[in-house]
Amino acid sequence: MKYKRILLKLSGEALMGDRQYGIDPQRLSEYAEDIKAVTEKGIEVAIVIGGGNIFRGVAGAMNGMDRVQGDHMGMLATVINGLALQNALEDAGVKTRLQTAIKINEVAEPFIRRKAMSHLTKGRVVIFGGGTGNPYFTTDSAAVLRAIEIEADVILKGTRVDGIYNVDPRKR
Ligand code: UDP
Repeated sequence: MKYKRILLKLSGEALMGDRQYGIDPQRLSEYAEDIKAVTEKGIEVAIVIGGGNIFRGVAGAMNGMDRVQGDHMGMLATVINGLALQNALEDAGVKTRLQTAIKINEVAEPFIRRKAMSHLTKGRVVIFGGGTGNPYFTTDSAAVLRAIEIEADVILKGTRVDGIYNVDPRKR
């Protein structure tokens, strides 16, 4: 197998399916099945989940909201998505752990690098919520950070576009 450990970045928008916001349960279970198929090949899977389908701090700031407050909301949005993805994966029979960069102990484990790596070696899918835990960052930055920390072999990004473009396909 080419890759032993992968870091998948799933944007919040990828969970919307054809909706305008929120989560499409059908799309979510399709992702869960796809991720399950990857784990069945013996590949360790960690996932950084976005929150753009629910809230982005920068959008809040454009409407006059305090940016840091908005970013906190965005980070919590990623935790909501993480819980939804965890549920879908467990429904598909995949063992998971959700770890968050901001502590929310009754709901998820805090991010602890060595624990995350231990889960992965045991075949559990680890979902990272809360981005980097810092405002003014995005979950793309979190994906790169976590990938390096857990020594992933590759970062794969799931977005709503279907290829490689030299201009934004949604603006053409
Ligand atoms: N966010 C943040 N710090 C981080 C990651 C995310 O403050 O390290 C906030 C930020 O407001 C961002 C929102 O969470 O707009 C949702 O994340 P992102 O926009 O990266 O989600 P995606 O585009 O992947 O759905």
